[in-house]
Amino acid sequence: MAEKSLVLIKPDAVERNIIGKILSIYEDNDLKIVKMKMLKVSRDLAEQHYEEHKGRDYYDNLINYITRSAVVALVLEGEDAIKKVRKLNGTTNPEKADEGTIRKLYALSTNLNSVHASDSKENAEREIKLWFE
Ligand code: ADP
Ligand code: MG
Repeated sequence: MAEKSLVLIKPDAVERNIIGKILSIYEDNDLKIVKMKMLKVSRDLAEQHYEEHKGRDYYDNLINYITRSAVVALVLEGEDAIKKVRKLNGTTNPEKADEGTIRKLYALSTNLNSVHASDSKENAEREIKLWFE
């Protein structure tokens, strides 16, 4: 089924000039970029985006990181997009990620892991609204 997923290219990736390399991986896998923008994230937006992580030991680091410089936010559309994008991104910890995944190729650590993608239909809807409405 055709679905949409909210993806972020996070500050560590934008800072290292690899936006294009990451977008190519999505496009080469039949995902269509249907919305895209670059922005510096406010604390308020970061806290809403990561609300389910509030209270975790990595939370403050995560908010500082996602707000430290620009991100690229995009909506990808395609067959089974939510699962597909998570698979292309690889596991949260890049050391455990499969070969060829974005995080295996580019992520620096579990915190600085280059990309975000929605993990469910409900979260995709919530995140697309949050970032694009
Ligand atoms: P994912 O981005 O793979 O969906 P989570 O939703 O679990 O991962 O976490 C959101 C983000 O919080 C991660 O992408 C990462 O940047 C950060 N994070 C998660 N767990 C840790 C951790 N144990 N240490 C540092 N940062 C973490
Ligand atoms: Mg997540």
